[in-house]
Amino acid sequence: MTSSIAERVTIIRAQLPPSVRLIAVSKQVSTQLMREAYGAGIRDFGESRIQEAASKQIELQDLPDITWHFIGHLQSNKAKKAVELFSWIHSVDNLHIAERLHTIAQTMGTNLYSCLQVKILPDPQKSGWTVPQLLTDLPFLSQYQSLQIQGLMTITPWGLEEEQILNVFNHTYNLAQEIASQKWANIEMRELSMGMSGDYELAVKAGATMVRLGTILFGNRL
Ligand SMILES: *Cc1c(COP(=O)(O)O)cnc(C)c1O
Repeated sequence: MTSSIAERVTIIRAQLPPSVRLIAVSKQVSTQLMREAYGAGIRDFGESRIQEAASKQIELQDLPDITWHFIGHLQSNKAKKAVELFSWIHSVDNLHIAERLHTIAQTMGTNLYSCLQVKILPDPQKSGWTVPQLLTDLPFLSQYQSLQIQGLMTITPWGLEEEQILNVFNHTYNLAQEIASQKWANIEMRELSMGMSGDYELAVKAGATMVRLGTILFGNRL
């Protein structure tokens, strides 16, 4: 890529509807490049490893208005650290971790926001609820008020045709509508975290409110 990060941020920001939150996925990206993105107006950064995020947060302490989003698979033993480091967890992917995050956030008295990660199509590479599992677990999730569930997150399986990708995003949108119509306490369905560098335009078409972009902003990861 010949353009600068600032140029890419500006171009992509201009393509997105103003209501869509642009999360710069900075996993494996240096804090120097993150500073460039910050300079171009980025305030939301997505990380998928706890340890990496912890050291970056120390290095970027002078930029206090960053919102940190966790987007990776979260292991139980890292849940406490995750609540300490992140405002958002997009990748709550099973009932056990949901309950743990709720308990930790409640005990610590911290403000946490989360999305439930759902798998619309089978994908052995990815974690997340299947649709039937998620619908079954809603009564339990509804008790986890400190999790502050805001919506759904999805990742499309690798190698789909454009039409299939759009189908996955539309299906996720419809699922969020269905859950919202059930009016569970403590479960909001105002956010849809979907779309990465290869498919974010389709995600936006289908109603994404948050896109998670790495490669298209920062270039290829090592
Ligand atoms: C890495 C990652 C992204 C960003 O992917 P790009 O294709 O580099 O934009 C988005 N979401 C999740 C969950 C990721 O792990």
